[in-house]
Amino acid sequence: MPGAIFWFRKGLRLHDNKALIAAVESRGKKVYPVYVLDPKFVNPKQMGLNRLRFLLECLLDLDYSLRTKHNSRLIVLRGDPTVVIPEQIEAWDVDRLVYEDEPEPHNVERDEAIKAVLKESNSACLVYCTPGHTIWDPKYLLKINNGKPPLTMQSFTTLAEKKADPPARPINAPTAEAMQLMLPRDVPETDKAEGDMYSVPVVENVKDFVALYSSLGVNGDQCTIDEADEKENNAGTPIVKGGETEALKRLSIKVNNRHTWVATFAKPDTAPTAFDPPSTTILSPYLANGSISPRLFYYAILDCYEKNRKENGHAHTKSPTSLMAQLYWREFFTLCGRELPHFGAMVGNSICKQIPWSRDMALLRAWEKSHTGFPWIDSVMTQLRTTGWIHHLARHSVACFLTRGDLWVHWEMGRDAFERHLLDADWSLNNANWMWLSASGFFHQFYRVYSPIAWPKKTDPNGDHVRHFVPVLKDMPKKYIYEPWLAPLTVQKKANCIIGKDYPYPVVDHNTVKNANLTKMKDAYGRHSDGKINWEEDVAQNVS
Ligand code: FAD
Repeated sequence: MPGAIFWFRKGLRLHDNKALIAAVESRGKKVYPVYVLDPKFVNPKQMGLNRLRFLLECLLDLDYSLRTKHNSRLIVLRGDPTVVIPEQIEAWDVDRLVYEDEPEPHNVERDEAIKAVLKESNSACLVYCTPGHTIWDPKYLLKINNGKPPLTMQSFTTLAEKKADPPARPINAPTAEAMQLMLPRDVPETDKAEGDMYSVPVVENVKDFVALYSSLGVNGDQCTIDEADEKENNAGTPIVKGGETEALKRLSIKVNNRHTWVATFAKPDTAPTAFDPPSTTILSPYLANGSISPRLFYYAILDCYEKNRKENGHAHTKSPTSLMAQLYWREFFTLCGRELPHFGAMVGNSICKQIPWSRDMALLRAWEKSHTGFPWIDSVMTQLRTTGWIHHLARHSVACFLTRGDLWVHWEMGRDAFERHLLDADWSLNNANWMWLSASGFFHQFYRVYSPIAWPKKTDPNGDHVRHFVPVLKDMPKKYIYEPWLAPLTVQKKANCIIGKDYPYPVVDHNTVKNANLTKMKDAYGRHSDGKINWEEDVAQNVS
């Protein structure tokens, strides 16, 4: 009897996986559990080492669960899914392809391309997919909102809390009995001499990463990983380890057992400078890869609200700052990313202000590699590169600095750097938040600029974040920790840090560029209301 392929993409979990249940219940078919390492995404330009390592940990955990609980395994394919999936459908005699829907337009396009290949080859294979990456099915939200995505958080909150039905309760992982149909772990047979070509790649050092990228056909130049990255990769410790097992543990520690904390959570009151421990849940990497179900998270929060009401007798915090609202932001931006054309770019994007940003590579590099000479910015960017995660308000700070605050560099370039380094990189969320911070979309108070000096002082007057992530500044007195260039030479010598030699001078004068940028922003906003935009001309003048 022909079999079925269950294709794991983002939903890297067994619990609350409606698509997986559908696959194992598909009329007694043998199910091949598959993941595809696609060079379009798995390449150093888009996926830095920490992020790739996190992904592989998710796959290893999934493989381990399949092997130990279900006598099955994960089959890792390599290559373009529009080629390798149809190839395996043919090779394994499969007549059903099942997966969880992905909302991003480029992923929808890929899925359509696969369907077209199957149709062209007269394949009898049927494709079945079901939502699961979000709490509510985006199609359902769209339908109850008259076919249009809401464009403000307020309207999204109304949609979620007043118009939408409560989401379905999360479902358990399939039973061992149902999973008997999964492919046994010793099949398919592999050539022992060549090793198991379908296993999760083992990546222990940078050489292994390069070998993996090469095996995917990523071209030689793109595989180059510079020395600094190699050093950092060896020195840094990602903030969390990947996998469903870790995700469930973390949900239990950070949410289930903390109902008072959950009920009083207000995002602006969480410290961006806290890193040991951080002040928020750090569940984002698991949500991005689907190792935790968003509905499980949603109901865990609701349970906490209920326990809090019973025990403490007070109400919980509300949207847009509550913990539940953080999940709403995710739903909201995912829906916008799915529905608004050209969401991943400035040009052609109807909600994005057309602003003549520069594409200055030297400034971009100084920012990404922590050479701006602003200790707070350099510290946050080091945290990002070495641990793969930074607090939301720290993201605000460095994104504002790169764009309208100081460096006037295009938000798309900052977005790309975040995509490389964040363990939680998510196309819709990343684009939406970069538009927000550059005051290009969703948020328009461009005159509210984060100071890289005064702002971090509020939550970290001693500069502990900087002392940890930029150790060359660890002995700088508190008075100068955020502006060491003002320290007299005697102080610099005593702190073993000479500005200009051991640590750079600031790459720009904050007040000067801030004022100049405000003028440019006013101008760009003005031209929007005049309808006088000549984007290409503006960009040509600003490229350096
Ligand atoms: P918590 O505060 O514990 O929130 C719980 C969950 O809510 C998060 O795990 C996340 O899934 C969701 N969430 C929280 N804040 C937001 C938000 N503003 N927008 C959408 N969802 C949110 N988040 C990503 O997951 N992927 C990204 O690629 C990403 N890029 C960003 C880029 C910029 C410039 C900025 C300013 C923010 C970005 N965020 C992104 C949003 C946010 O910073 C992170 O989701 C959050 O910091 C993750 O930490 P946490 O899990 O501890 O969050």
